[in-house]
Amino acid sequence: MLVLVLNSGSSSIKYQLLEPDSGTVSASGLVSRIGEDVGPGEPTIEHHGRGGEIVHTGPIPDHAAGLKLVFGLFAADGQDLATAGLAAAGHRVVHGGEVFYRPTLITDEVLATIRDLSSLAPLHNPANVIGIECAMRLLPGVPQVAVFDTAFFHGLPAAAKTYAVDAGIAAKFGIRRYGFHGTSHEYVSGQAAAFLGRRPEDVNQIVLHLGNGASGSAIRAGRAVDTTMGMTPLEGLVMGTRSGDLDPGIILHLERNGLDVAEIDVLLNRESGLKGLSGINDFRELHAHMESGDAAARLAYDVYIHRLRHYIGAYLIELGRVDVITFTGGVGENSSQVRFDALAGLERFGIAIDPQLNDVRNRSAHRISKSDSEIAVLVVPTNEELAIARAAADLVRPG
Ligand code: ADP
Repeated sequence: MLVLVLNSGSSSIKYQLLEPDSGTVSASGLVSRIGEDVGPGEPTIEHHGRGGEIVHTGPIPDHAAGLKLVFGLFAADGQDLATAGLAAAGHRVVHGGEVFYRPTLITDEVLATIRDLSSLAPLHNPANVIGIECAMRLLPGVPQVAVFDTAFFHGLPAAAKTYAVDAGIAAKFGIRRYGFHGTSHEYVSGQAAAFLGRRPEDVNQIVLHLGNGASGSAIRAGRAVDTTMGMTPLEGLVMGTRSGDLDPGIILHLERNGLDVAEIDVLLNRESGLKGLSGINDFRELHAHMESGDAAARLAYDVYIHRLRHYIGAYLIELGRVDVITFTGGVGENSSQVRFDALAGLERFGIAIDPQLNDVRNRSAHRISKSDSEIAVLVVPTNEELAIARAAADLVRPG
Protein backbone atom coordinates (compact mmCIF):
# COMPACT_ATOMS: atom_id res chain seq x y z
CA MET A 1 0.00 0.00 0.00
CA LEU A 2 1.41 3.40 -0.99
CA VAL A 3 0.29 6.85 0.13
CA LEU A 4 1.48 10.19 -1.22
CA VAL A 5 1.60 12.83 1.52
CA LEU A 6 1.53 16.49 0.56
CA ASN A 7 2.13 19.51 2.77
CA SER A 8 1.52 22.63 0.71
CA GLY A 9 2.68 25.96 2.08
CA SER A 10 2.35 29.41 0.55
CA SER A 11 5.59 29.05 -1.43
CA SER A 12 6.52 25.43 -0.93
CA ILE A 13 5.32 21.83 -1.21
CA LYS A 14 6.83 19.08 0.95
CA TYR A 15 6.03 15.56 -0.17
CA GLN A 16 6.68 11.95 0.68
CA LEU A 17 5.69 8.67 -0.92
CA LEU A 18 5.51 6.01 1.75
CA GLU A 19 4.14 2.70 2.89
CA PRO A 20 1.96 3.50 5.91
CA ASP A 21 2.28 0.21 7.78
CA SER A 22 6.04 -0.20 7.66
CA GLY A 23 6.80 3.52 7.38
CA THR A 24 9.18 2.81 4.48
CA VAL A 25 9.71 6.00 2.46
CA SER A 26 10.30 5.39 -1.25
CA ALA A 27 10.67 9.04 -2.20
CA SER A 28 10.53 12.47 -0.63
CA GLY A 29 11.23 16.02 -1.60
CA LEU A 30 10.67 19.71 -1.35
CA VAL A 31 9.53 22.27 -3.92
CA SER A 32 10.55 25.71 -2.75
CA ARG A 33 10.34 29.37 -3.78
CA ILE A 34 7.08 28.87 -5.72
CA GLY A 35 6.06 32.10 -7.44
CA GLU A 36 9.33 33.81 -6.59
CA ASP A 37 12.01 35.25 -8.85
CA VAL A 38 14.68 32.61 -9.19
CA GLY A 39 17.79 32.87 -11.34
CA PRO A 40 18.65 30.18 -13.88
CA GLY A 41 20.54 27.34 -12.21
CA GLU A 42 19.13 27.99 -8.75
CA PRO A 43 17.68 24.82 -7.18
CA THR A 44 13.92 24.81 -6.57
CA ILE A 45 13.10 21.09 -6.28
CA GLU A 46 15.10 18.54 -4.35
CA HIS A 47 13.78 15.04 -4.97
CA HIS A 48 15.16 12.04 -3.10
CA GLY A 49 14.15 8.85 -4.85
CA ARG A 50 15.39 5.35 -5.49
CA GLY A 51 18.13 6.65 -7.75
CA GLY A 52 19.43 9.18 -5.19
CA GLU A 53 18.90 12.92 -5.32
CA ILE A 54 17.56 14.76 -8.35
CA VAL A 55 17.70 18.56 -8.29
CA HIS A 56 15.50 20.73 -10.49
CA THR A 57 16.61 24.29 -11.12
CA GLY A 58 14.83 27.38 -12.32
CA PRO A 59 11.63 29.22 -11.45
CA ILE A 60 8.38 27.49 -10.42
CA PRO A 61 5.52 29.81 -11.42
CA ASP A 62 2.81 28.20 -9.28
CA HIS A 63 1.86 25.12 -7.25
CA ALA A 64 0.34 23.32 -10.24
CA ALA A 65 3.56 23.69 -12.23
CA GLY A 66 5.61 22.56 -9.22
CA LEU A 67 3.52 19.46 -8.65
CA LYS A 68 3.60 18.57 -12.38
CA LEU A 69 7.40 18.75 -12.31
CA VAL A 70 7.45 16.58 -9.19
CA PHE A 71 5.31 13.97 -10.95
CA GLY A 72 7.83 14.06 -13.81
CA LEU A 73 10.69 13.48 -11.35
CA PHE A 74 8.83 10.50 -9.87
CA ALA A 75 8.41 9.04 -13.38
CA ALA A 76 12.08 9.69 -14.23
CA ASP A 77 12.99 7.83 -11.03
CA GLY A 78 10.94 4.81 -12.11
CA GLN A 79 7.96 5.46 -9.81
CA ASP A 80 5.24 6.82 -12.07
CA LEU A 81 2.54 8.01 -9.67
CA ALA A 82 -0.24 7.56 -12.23
CA THR A 83 0.43 3.81 -12.38
CA ALA A 84 1.82 3.24 -8.86
CA GLY A 85 -1.58 2.17 -7.52
CA LEU A 86 -1.71 4.88 -4.86
CA ALA A 87 -4.15 3.97 -2.10
CA ALA A 88 -4.63 7.63 -1.21
CA ALA A 89 -3.11 11.09 -1.15
CA GLY A 90 -2.96 12.55 2.37
CA HIS A 91 -2.94 16.32 2.77
CA ARG A 92 -1.87 18.30 5.79
CA VAL A 93 -4.53 20.96 6.34
CA VAL A 94 -3.79 23.52 9.00
CA HIS A 95 -7.22 24.68 10.12
CA GLY A 96 -10.26 22.45 10.51
CA GLY A 97 -12.25 25.03 12.51
CA GLU A 98 -15.19 23.62 14.47
CA VAL A 99 -16.13 21.41 11.55
CA PHE A 100 -13.34 18.90 10.94
CA TYR A 101 -11.81 16.92 13.74
CA ARG A 102 -10.95 13.65 12.14
CA PRO A 103 -9.26 12.64 8.87
CA THR A 104 -11.79 13.44 6.15
CA LEU A 105 -12.27 12.20 2.60
CA ILE A 106 -12.16 15.28 0.38
CA THR A 107 -15.23 15.98 -1.73
CA ASP A 108 -16.03 19.23 -3.53
CA GLU A 109 -18.10 20.22 -0.50
CA VAL A 110 -15.31 19.45 1.97
CA LEU A 111 -12.89 21.43 -0.18
CA ALA A 112 -15.26 24.41 -0.22
CA THR A 113 -15.50 24.30 3.59
CA ILE A 114 -11.71 24.15 3.96
CA ARG A 115 -11.56 27.19 1.69
CA ASP A 116 -14.18 28.97 3.82
CA LEU A 117 -12.03 28.38 6.90
CA SER A 118 -9.30 30.53 5.31
CA SER A 119 -10.45 33.52 7.32
CA LEU A 120 -9.18 31.67 10.42
CA ALA A 121 -5.88 30.67 8.80
CA PRO A 122 -5.20 33.13 5.99
CA LEU A 123 -1.52 32.15 5.72
CA HIS A 124 -2.16 28.42 5.52
CA ASN A 125 -5.55 27.14 4.33
CA PRO A 126 -5.47 28.82 0.88
CA ALA A 127 -2.15 27.08 0.11
CA ASN A 128 -3.51 23.76 1.41
CA VAL A 129 -6.53 24.14 -0.91
CA ILE A 130 -4.33 24.81 -3.94
CA GLY A 131 -2.26 21.68 -3.18
CA ILE A 132 -5.42 19.57 -2.91
CA GLU A 133 -6.89 20.94 -6.16
CA CYS A 134 -3.66 20.19 -8.05
CA ALA A 135 -3.48 16.66 -6.63
CA MET A 136 -7.14 16.01 -7.52
CA ARG A 137 -6.46 17.03 -11.10
CA LEU A 138 -3.22 15.08 -11.45
CA LEU A 139 -4.45 11.96 -9.65
CA PRO A 140 -8.03 11.37 -10.83
CA GLY A 141 -9.63 8.44 -9.02
CA VAL A 142 -7.18 8.47 -6.10
CA PRO A 143 -8.95 9.21 -2.79
CA GLN A 144 -7.76 12.50 -1.29
CA VAL A 145 -7.77 12.74 2.49
CA ALA A 146 -7.40 15.86 4.62
CA VAL A 147 -5.66 15.53 8.01
CA PHE A 148 -6.13 18.59 10.19
CA ASP A 149 -3.52 20.20 12.44
CA THR A 150 -6.25 21.32 14.80
CA ALA A 151 -8.00 17.94 15.13
CA PHE A 152 -6.20 16.57 18.19
CA PHE A 153 -7.25 19.66 20.15
CA HIS A 154 -10.89 19.57 19.12
CA GLY A 155 -11.96 18.27 22.52
CA LEU A 156 -10.13 20.83 24.67
CA PRO A 157 -12.16 21.49 27.81
CA ALA A 158 -14.27 24.67 27.64
CA ALA A 159 -12.11 26.41 30.26
CA ALA A 160 -8.98 25.82 28.17
CA LYS A 161 -10.41 26.80 24.81
CA THR A 162 -12.38 29.90 25.78
CA TYR A 163 -10.93 33.42 25.64
CA ALA A 164 -12.35 35.83 28.20
CA VAL A 165 -13.83 38.23 25.65
CA ASP A 166 -17.43 39.20 24.95
CA ALA A 167 -19.17 35.89 24.28
CA GLY A 168 -21.28 37.25 21.39
CA ILE A 169 -18.24 38.69 19.59
CA ALA A 170 -16.32 35.46 20.16
CA ALA A 171 -19.14 33.40 18.65
CA LYS A 172 -19.56 35.78 15.71
CA PHE A 173 -15.88 35.73 14.74
CA GLY A 174 -14.95 32.16 15.69
CA ILE A 175 -12.69 33.37 18.48
CA ARG A 176 -11.56 30.42 20.59
CA ARG A 177 -8.44 28.38 21.06
CA TYR A 178 -8.02 25.72 18.38
CA GLY A 179 -4.40 24.58 18.85
CA PHE A 180 -2.03 23.46 16.07
CA HIS A 181 0.71 20.85 15.44
CA GLY A 182 -1.95 18.37 16.57
CA THR A 183 -0.79 15.59 14.24
CA SER A 184 2.66 15.78 15.82
CA HIS A 185 1.39 15.97 19.42
CA GLU A 186 -0.87 12.98 18.85
CA TYR A 187 1.79 10.90 17.11
CA VAL A 188 4.56 11.72 19.60
CA SER A 189 2.37 11.13 22.65
CA GLY A 190 1.40 7.72 21.21
CA GLN A 191 5.07 6.88 20.64
CA ALA A 192 5.98 8.05 24.16
CA ALA A 193 3.33 5.83 25.75
CA ALA A 194 4.51 2.89 23.61
CA PHE A 195 8.12 3.55 24.63
CA LEU A 196 7.07 3.27 28.27
CA GLY A 197 5.16 0.09 27.48
CA ARG A 198 1.86 1.68 28.50
CA ARG A 199 -1.43 2.52 26.82
CA PRO A 200 -2.01 6.23 26.01
CA GLU A 201 -5.17 6.05 28.21
CA ASP A 202 -2.98 5.25 31.20
CA VAL A 203 -0.52 8.14 31.02
CA ASN A 204 -0.53 11.87 31.56
CA GLN A 205 1.93 13.70 29.37
CA ILE A 206 3.48 17.00 28.45
CA VAL A 207 4.68 17.15 24.84
CA LEU A 208 7.01 19.96 23.74
CA HIS A 209 7.16 20.28 19.96
CA LEU A 210 10.04 22.68 19.38
CA GLY A 211 10.83 23.39 15.73
CA ASN A 212 10.71 26.63 13.79
CA GLY A 213 7.18 26.83 15.07
CA ALA A 214 6.84 25.62 18.65
CA SER A 215 4.00 24.42 20.83
CA GLY A 216 3.41 22.46 24.00
CA SER A 217 0.49 20.33 25.04
CA ALA A 218 -0.92 18.82 28.20
CA ILE A 219 -2.45 15.39 27.57
CA ARG A 220 -4.52 13.51 30.13
CA ALA A 221 -5.15 9.84 29.45
CA GLY A 222 -4.67 10.23 25.70
CA ARG A 223 -6.76 13.40 25.34
CA ALA A 224 -5.36 16.90 24.90
CA VAL A 225 -6.53 19.14 27.73
CA ASP A 226 -4.45 22.21 26.93
CA THR A 227 -2.05 23.59 24.35
CA THR A 228 0.04 26.72 23.95
CA MET A 229 -1.12 27.74 20.47
CA GLY A 230 -4.50 29.40 20.33
CA MET A 231 -6.85 30.75 17.73
CA THR A 232 -3.79 31.06 15.47
CA PRO A 233 -0.32 29.50 15.61
CA LEU A 234 1.00 32.80 16.99
CA GLU A 235 0.14 32.27 20.65
CA GLY A 236 2.26 30.57 23.28
CA LEU A 237 5.94 29.73 23.13
CA VAL A 238 8.64 31.95 21.66
CA MET A 239 9.39 30.62 18.16
CA GLY A 240 11.98 31.12 15.42
CA THR A 241 10.24 34.18 13.97
CA ARG A 242 6.93 34.36 15.91
CA SER A 243 6.47 36.26 19.15
CA GLY A 244 4.27 33.81 21.01
CA ASP A 245 2.33 35.34 23.95
CA LEU A 246 2.01 39.11 24.06
CA ASP A 247 -0.06 41.64 25.93
CA PRO A 248 -2.84 42.25 23.34
CA GLY A 249 -2.55 45.92 24.28
CA ILE A 250 0.74 45.97 22.35
CA ILE A 251 -1.17 45.46 19.11
CA LEU A 252 -3.50 48.36 19.92
CA HIS A 253 -0.50 50.49 20.81
CA LEU A 254 1.24 49.71 17.51
CA GLU A 255 -1.92 50.42 15.55
CA ARG A 256 -2.49 53.73 17.32
CA ASN A 257 1.07 54.63 16.45
CA GLY A 258 0.64 54.09 12.73
CA LEU A 259 1.39 50.45 11.91
CA ASP A 260 -1.30 48.83 9.79
CA VAL A 261 -2.63 45.27 10.08
CA ALA A 262 -0.34 43.92 7.34
CA GLU A 263 2.73 45.42 9.01
CA ILE A 264 1.79 44.05 12.42
CA ASP A 265 1.15 40.65 10.85
CA VAL A 266 4.65 40.58 9.32
CA LEU A 267 6.18 41.91 12.54
CA LEU A 268 4.65 39.27 14.79
CA ASN A 269 4.81 36.28 12.42
CA ARG A 270 8.08 36.82 10.60
CA GLU A 271 10.19 39.41 12.39
CA SER A 272 9.74 38.47 16.04
CA GLY A 273 10.70 35.54 18.26
CA LEU A 274 14.37 34.60 18.31
CA LYS A 275 14.90 36.45 15.04
CA GLY A 276 13.38 39.66 16.34
CA LEU A 277 15.52 39.60 19.46
CA SER A 278 18.83 38.48 17.99
CA GLY A 279 18.58 38.50 14.19
CA ILE A 280 18.95 34.69 14.24
CA ASN A 281 16.18 32.13 14.02
CA ASP A 282 18.21 28.93 13.67
CA PHE A 283 19.16 27.36 16.99
CA ARG A 284 22.52 26.02 15.78
CA GLU A 285 23.57 29.55 14.88
CA LEU A 286 22.06 30.96 18.06
CA HIS A 287 24.10 28.57 20.20
CA ALA A 288 27.28 29.53 18.31
CA HIS A 289 26.59 33.25 18.84
CA MET A 290 25.90 32.72 22.55
CA GLU A 291 29.22 30.95 22.90
CA SER A 292 31.02 33.86 21.28
CA GLY A 293 29.46 36.27 23.81
CA ASP A 294 26.66 37.81 21.71
CA ALA A 295 24.41 39.46 24.35
CA ALA A 296 21.36 39.70 22.06
CA ALA A 297 21.58 35.96 21.28
CA ARG A 298 21.83 35.24 25.02
CA LEU A 299 18.75 37.33 25.79
CA ALA A 300 16.77 35.67 22.99
CA TYR A 301 17.68 32.26 24.39
CA ASP A 302 16.81 33.27 27.95
CA VAL A 303 13.40 34.60 26.88
CA TYR A 304 12.78 31.37 24.96
CA ILE A 305 13.63 29.19 27.97
CA HIS A 306 11.71 31.43 30.39
CA ARG A 307 8.51 31.02 28.37
CA LEU A 308 9.04 27.29 27.94
CA ARG A 309 9.46 26.77 31.70
CA HIS A 310 6.40 28.92 32.35
CA TYR A 311 4.25 26.49 30.36
CA ILE A 312 5.90 23.36 31.75
CA GLY A 313 5.04 24.66 35.23
CA ALA A 314 1.49 25.45 34.20
CA TYR A 315 0.95 21.99 32.73
CA LEU A 316 2.45 20.21 35.74
CA ILE A 317 -0.16 21.91 37.90
CA GLU A 318 -2.96 21.52 35.37
CA LEU A 319 -2.38 17.77 35.04
CA GLY A 320 -1.63 17.20 38.71
CA ARG A 321 0.10 13.93 37.97
CA VAL A 322 2.53 13.77 35.04
CA ASP A 323 4.14 10.52 33.89
CA VAL A 324 6.24 11.71 30.99
CA ILE A 325 7.58 14.86 29.38
CA THR A 326 8.65 14.48 25.75
CA PHE A 327 10.75 16.72 23.52
CA THR A 328 10.30 16.64 19.74
CA GLY A 329 10.82 18.84 16.63
CA GLY A 330 14.12 20.04 15.17
CA VAL A 331 15.13 21.91 18.35
CA GLY A 332 13.62 19.46 20.84
CA GLU A 333 15.29 16.49 19.15
CA ASN A 334 18.67 18.12 18.66
CA SER A 335 19.42 20.75 21.28
CA SER A 336 20.50 19.05 24.51
CA GLN A 337 21.08 22.49 26.00
CA VAL A 338 17.45 23.55 25.48
CA ARG A 339 16.24 20.28 27.03
CA PHE A 340 18.56 20.67 30.00
CA ASP A 341 17.74 24.32 30.64
CA ALA A 342 14.00 23.72 30.24
CA LEU A 343 13.98 21.19 33.08
CA ALA A 344 16.99 22.12 35.24
CA GLY A 345 16.47 22.28 39.01
CA LEU A 346 13.06 20.59 39.03
CA GLU A 347 14.06 17.55 41.12
CA ARG A 348 11.58 18.51 43.82
CA PHE A 349 8.84 18.16 41.17
CA GLY A 350 10.02 14.66 40.29
CA ILE A 351 12.03 15.65 37.21
CA ALA A 352 15.70 14.67 37.06
CA ILE A 353 17.50 14.83 33.71
CA ASP A 354 20.60 12.66 33.31
CA PRO A 355 23.16 15.01 31.69
CA GLN A 356 25.04 12.12 30.07
CA LEU A 357 21.94 10.51 28.57
CA ASN A 358 20.80 13.96 27.48
CA ASP A 359 24.00 14.41 25.46
CA VAL A 360 23.78 11.07 23.65
CA ARG A 361 22.85 11.54 19.99
CA ASN A 362 20.23 9.00 19.06
CA ARG A 363 17.80 9.21 16.15
CA SER A 364 15.16 6.99 17.71
CA ALA A 365 12.99 7.48 20.80
CA HIS A 366 15.11 7.48 23.95
CA ARG A 367 14.99 8.37 27.61
CA ILE A 368 17.09 11.22 29.01
CA SER A 369 15.93 11.20 32.64
CA LYS A 370 17.69 9.42 35.50
CA SER A 371 16.34 5.99 36.34
CA ASP A 372 14.93 7.32 39.63
CA SER A 373 13.24 10.35 38.05
CA GLU A 374 9.57 10.07 38.99
CA ILE A 375 8.61 11.71 35.68
CA ALA A 376 10.24 10.11 32.62
CA VAL A 377 11.77 12.57 30.17
CA LEU A 378 12.01 11.36 26.56
CA VAL A 379 13.17 12.54 23.18
CA VAL A 380 10.89 11.21 20.42
CA PRO A 381 11.39 12.13 16.75
CA THR A 382 8.19 13.42 15.26
CA ASN A 383 6.97 12.07 11.92
CA GLU A 384 3.94 14.00 10.72
CA GLU A 385 4.15 12.48 7.23
CA LEU A 386 3.86 8.96 8.60
CA ALA A 387 0.98 9.97 10.86
CA ILE A 388 -0.85 11.56 7.90
CA ALA A 389 -0.18 8.51 5.68
CA ARG A 390 -1.54 6.18 8.36
CA ALA A 391 -4.61 8.33 8.94
CA ALA A 392 -5.31 8.43 5.18
CA ALA A 393 -4.75 4.68 4.80
CA ASP A 394 -7.03 3.87 7.74
CA LEU A 395 -9.80 5.92 6.16
CA VAL A 396 -9.68 4.26 2.76
CA ARG A 397 -8.78 0.71 3.84
CA PRO A 398 -11.65 -1.64 3.12
CA GLY A 399 -13.43 -2.97 6.18
P1 ADP B 1 9.66 23.10 11.22
O1 ADP B 1 8.92 23.74 12.36
O2 ADP B 1 9.90 24.04 10.08
O3 ADP B 1 9.15 21.73 10.83
P2 ADP B 1 11.89 21.68 12.39
O4 ADP B 1 11.11 20.91 13.37
O5 ADP B 1 12.57 20.95 11.29
O6 ADP B 1 11.12 22.90 11.80
O7 ADP B 1 13.01 22.47 13.23
C1 ADP B 1 13.91 23.33 12.57
C2 ADP B 1 14.81 23.96 13.60
O8 ADP B 1 15.50 22.94 14.35
C3 ADP B 1 15.92 24.78 12.97
O9 ADP B 1 15.54 26.10 12.76
C4 ADP B 1 17.00 24.71 14.00
O10 ADP B 1 16.86 25.83 14.85
C5 ADP B 1 16.71 23.47 14.82
N1 ADP B 1 17.79 22.49 14.71
C6 ADP B 1 17.99 21.59 13.73
N2 ADP B 1 19.10 20.87 13.98
C7 ADP B 1 19.62 21.32 15.14
C8 ADP B 1 20.76 21.01 15.94
N3 ADP B 1 21.61 20.03 15.59
N4 ADP B 1 20.94 21.70 17.09
C9 ADP B 1 20.08 22.66 17.47
N5 ADP B 1 19.00 23.01 16.76
C10 ADP B 1 18.77 22.36 15.62
